[in-house]
Amino acid sequence: MSPDPIADRFQRIRERPVALEVQGLTKRFAAPDGGERTALGDVSFTIHRREFVTVIGPSGCGKSTLVRLLAGLEEPSAGAVLIDGKPVDGPGRDRGMVFQGYTLFPWRTVMANVMFGLEMGGMGGDLARSEALEWLDLVGLADFANHYPSQLSGGMKQRVAIARALANRPRVLLMDEPFGALDPRTRVQMQSHLLQIWRNVPVTIVFITHDLDEAVMLGDRVLVLGAPDATHSCGYMREFVEVPLPQPRDIDILRTEEFRIFRDRLDALVHPHEAVTVEKLPMVRMTQVGDDV
Ligand code: ADP
Ligand code: MG
Repeated sequence: MSPDPIADRFQRIRERPVALEVQGLTKRFAAPDGGERTALGDVSFTIHRREFVTVIGPSGCGKSTLVRLLAGLEEPSAGAVLIDGKPVDGPGRDRGMVFQGYTLFPWRTVMANVMFGLEMGGMGGDLARSEALEWLDLVGLADFANHYPSQLSGGMKQRVAIARALANRPRVLLMDEPFGALDPRTRVQMQSHLLQIWRNVPVTIVFITHDLDEAVMLGDRVLVLGAPDATHSCGYMREFVEVPLPQPRDIDILRTEEFRIFRDRLDALVHPHEAVTVEKLPMVRMTQVGDDV
């Protein structure tokens, strides 16, 4: 046993092939004044096979723009995205997506939702059905195969969305705040489910969140993006940090001292010298002094 198992783990991750490479990625949008605004400027990084990377940053820093560029749903203004060394030039089956909003087809059963991508890929009925059932089993929903999305809770819908995305056996799973609409308890359960699923499936995950606990709980590494400010005219890459916590993890890690220490360190990194300013409201009395309220 090495004296530093965490350093060893990252060494082993770095020795794996690169799954996803981003080079000088920049995205500009047309601005209302007729000019252009850069949403994301000059982002470069590499992610290794089977790594779990979380992306965090304040609202408007370009998280969704980044994930849409990785998915090929947006075209970069400059730079490139490569999956297994191949440049991305549009959506493809090598990338699966799960969004925050529930994106299941309401008129299809759970089973038919998971079968959808398989059928699109040319897989026939019976084979697609048995494949879909295996993925539903993996997310613990085989018993709900014949239900419709409206009959499921929010957490269950997202589990179906994960099964549907994974059924196509993507190289990379892209997740944009997938648990953002869930209540806190369900959210933590879903984090635990996702870690379990990831251990059983050879997939690289890029997971967007604006929740620090979630970023630390899930990520092997955390990519920190910054929003435009006095010194940056656009969303930019701030840090890419290793999470010095063991894998496999479970929700118990949330209660450990090492979790809290790293989380606080990341918090300081994400919100460096942010003084919390609370707007002072004028004091207006709506009742007469002495009124019985
Ligand atoms: P985040 O997901 O981190 O909140 P986004 O990637 O959604 O941030 O947005 C980053 C910036 O890019 C924001 O200022 C947003 O208004 C702008 N933006 C995103 N998509 C578009 C678009 N399609 N057209 C114009 N501006 C956009
Ligand atoms: Mg977003």
